[in-house]
Amino acid sequence: MGRKVLVLNQDFRALTVCSVHRAFLLVYMEKAELVSNAKNIYLRTVSTSFPAPSIIRLQDYVNIPYKGVVLSRQNIFKRDGHTCQYCGSKTVLTLDHVMPRSRGGQSSWENLTTACNRCNSKKGDLTPNEAQMPLKRKPFKPSFFMFLRDFSGHVDDEWLTYLGKAMKT
Ligand SMILES: [Zn+2]
Repeated sequence: MGRKVLVLNQDFRALTVCSVHRAFLLVYMEKAELVSNAKNIYLRTVSTSFPAPSIIRLQDYVNIPYKGVVLSRQNIFKRDGHTCQYCGSKTVLTLDHVMPRSRGGQSSWENLTTACNRCNSKKGDLTPNEAQMPLKRKPFKPSFFMFLRDFSGHVDDEWLTYLGKAMKT
């Protein structure tokens, strides 16, 4: 997993993360400015080394609604650590509606969980209780902070100042 750089909107709100390569490109193209370098992390080329960027800020305001983490198949797998929440298997993963759709279960963070194909068909139209298949972890809506941390594999100390604002949304 490559190092990630925190991208701030023009108003200094945390927007997303991007690769170091993309951060350099944005700064080079003057689409963004460097806010902070990572401490004690250097990028080396053949002849020189320079500090790795940690935070950049976009020059133009990006108007996107702050709705937090997008509900998607991949993000649910990510939240659940790519692990079946019934048996712990990591192969042939699907999405399971905890309260089955046929019984009014919604497609939401709180009702979708990662399940392997086998558990999914075994559970069928039953609730975990009825199927006697307890969930390892109750599904929940991940915070932006958690998403960034899991997605980036790290959170630089410098990020916390800006993530504070995003975490409240
Ligand atoms: Zn399973």
